[in-house]
Amino acid sequence: MTPPTDLANQPPTVPAALAKKLEKLGIRRRFDLVLHLPLRYEDETHLYPIADAPYGQPVLVEGAVVSHEVSFKPRKQLRVQIEDGSGVLLLRFIHFYPSQIKQFAEGSRVRALGEIRRGFLGDEMVHPKTREVREGAPLAESLTPVYPTVNGLTQPMLRKLVHGELRLQQLGEVLPPPLLEPLALQPFAEAIRLLHQPPPEWSAQQLADPRLPAWQRLKFDELLAQQLSMRLAYRARRQGSAPRIVGDGSLSARLLQNLPFQLTAAQRRVLEDIRADLALPHPMHRLLQGDVGSGKTIVAALAALSAIEAGYQVALMAPTEILAEQHYLKLSGWLAPLGIGVAWLSGSLRKKAKAQALEEIAAGRCRLAVGTHALFQDDVRFERLGLAIVDEQHRFGVGQRLALQGKGEEPHQLMMSATPIPRTLAMSFYADLDVSVIDELPPGRTPIVTKLIGNPRRPEVVGLVERTCAEGQQAYWVCPLIEESEALQLQTAVDSHQQLQQDLPGRRIGLVHGRMKAAEKAVVMAAFAGGELDVLVATTVIEVGVDVPNASLMVIEHAERMGLAQLHQLRGRVGRGSARSVCVLLFDSPLSDLAKARLKVIYENVDGFEIARQDLQIRGPGEFLGARQSGLPMLRFADLEQDQQLLEAARDLAPQLLERWPQAADAHLERWLAGKEQFLKA
Ligand code: ADP
Ligand code: MG
Repeated sequence: MTPPTDLANQPPTVPAALAKKLEKLGIRRRFDLVLHLPLRYEDETHLYPIADAPYGQPVLVEGAVVSHEVSFKPRKQLRVQIEDGSGVLLLRFIHFYPSQIKQFAEGSRVRALGEIRRGFLGDEMVHPKTREVREGAPLAESLTPVYPTVNGLTQPMLRKLVHGELRLQQLGEVLPPPLLEPLALQPFAEAIRLLHQPPPEWSAQQLADPRLPAWQRLKFDELLAQQLSMRLAYRARRQGSAPRIVGDGSLSARLLQNLPFQLTAAQRRVLEDIRADLALPHPMHRLLQGDVGSGKTIVAALAALSAIEAGYQVALMAPTEILAEQHYLKLSGWLAPLGIGVAWLSGSLRKKAKAQALEEIAAGRCRLAVGTHALFQDDVRFERLGLAIVDEQHRFGVGQRLALQGKGEEPHQLMMSATPIPRTLAMSFYADLDVSVIDELPPGRTPIVTKLIGNPRRPEVVGLVERTCAEGQQAYWVCPLIEESEALQLQTAVDSHQQLQQDLPGRRIGLVHGRMKAAEKAVVMAAFAGGELDVLVATTVIEVGVDVPNASLMVIEHAERMGLAQLHQLRGRVGRGSARSVCVLLFDSPLSDLAKARLKVIYENVDGFEIARQDLQIRGPGEFLGARQSGLPMLRFADLEQDQQLLEAARDLAPQLLERWPQAADAHLERWLAGKEQFLKA
């Protein structure tokens, strides 16, 4: 655009050291200062008489210093008494500099901003913001904004920088009036000015209200920028080219015949979505969501067969060796009878075996390659890769997804996730993907009973394990996640294993943990799956993908340490057969509030989407996004849950804007996202 935009995109004119600090706040260009909005406001416009000042809110008072002293009981502190004719007030500082003491010479006047509370010795303010003043010094005319900042960057410095830009930058509308008017939003310039420089009549409470039209405007703009950038990413992909894949259905039909079950309606529907995408000449990026146990693997297998029928190869990746191996076993079990070669590729493979797998993939003798991250590596060459399937996609980085695209023809991508993404997240951070949901579990599942049991009652739980085994069922015993120490985690698993062997002498009890070699793990897992073990003690390696229908009891030790998604995943390992299943969450008291909230959610809910929605509320979107986070424009002002209506409005408007006013779309993106990583132009 024209010069005003250039001004917006210049780096702030400040010394290098300061520029670094601004950068930490995400401020790289001058317009970012305009969008750097206050966290809250301080009110220095009104002076309260000490005696009349209300409790429980920040107030400004002024008085003459009556006395000051450094006392050492109960701990070192500076105590200053001031009085203003209406009353006296104690100012208390636990951290202070010797120079500060001077400010409080007897007889000097100070203004103090803080909350008054009833102290042991009368009314007091702890760590007020103070300033020495002359009698009758003028008060601030409007509220003082308090900005997010970093060490060494003071509020006055930030204020000066921001206010300087407000005078220089173009704050006019970049969005077309016909689009804005129906929304009845406050003009951008008005909203920005109000929030940075509120007029005197505004109170801090009014400004903190998220429903304030000014905030609504900024949230909307931010969400719109996000929607535009996601749509552009979507569009860019739809402009790429990929092979049109249309299978003849011959192999799929044979696999379906061999299966002991029928596909659910939901499985058939998502398969239709996938097949329709594969038939298009641009790369599919479809996210297949389905709760644990909803049957994503067979969908993946049938999608793979479509590609194989059409003469293409397929890669299937999983984030852990165990999960990848489970897939390998399952898929080769399904595909081998159809005469289709399946290759196995993992980091722990011996050189010779690896070379052979690579050779079979390159020569096209294997039509399906299953593996871990090893499949992403440079030495992997496909003869004709048409489809890449990624299980638990949120664990892979964006970079890895892209690395795969670089191989030969751009393949179609199917991502599968058992961590349900709440609707609002799907609408925002995942808006560049197409999403299919398996919203129905296969028939014949019995509901899982969840029990919360305190550690002192552990013997009862051991009794339950015994009864379960006596009925011919199997049990998982999952050991705590210990983030600080893998060694410690291993130790607890080893201890629990030993303890259970002592407590249940007649039972066959296996152990898997992350330190075991893949082959060793596979032996134990296979023994459990084959019913040669009654109990499987495991660290959280069994989190995803393990499928043993005869297991009907899941015990999770120290459930309070685990996240909701993880608990939900673990619980989903049982309830796969016809036996009544139980999940015991063992916890250690006392529980933190967060742990309590989590356990309550998992206890009360079985639906993965509801759990995910509540998880989003408890934790915010950060952890959901995982690797996705790094490449995407984050939201600073909008809250997905609270601002759902704005999100929907932004989503509906983004395509219109791109279609009819591409220049306005560009200007809006420029305003909000220029300089950010994922900046595409309309
Ligand atoms: P997830 O979606 O968690 O990956 P899986 O693909 O492992 O689930 O499927 C869970 C179990 O359900 C497997 O034993 C699978 O064979 C079985 N299954 C899948 N689809 C059906 C179906 N339509 N009817 C009955 N069982 C099914
Ligand atoms: Mg799975």
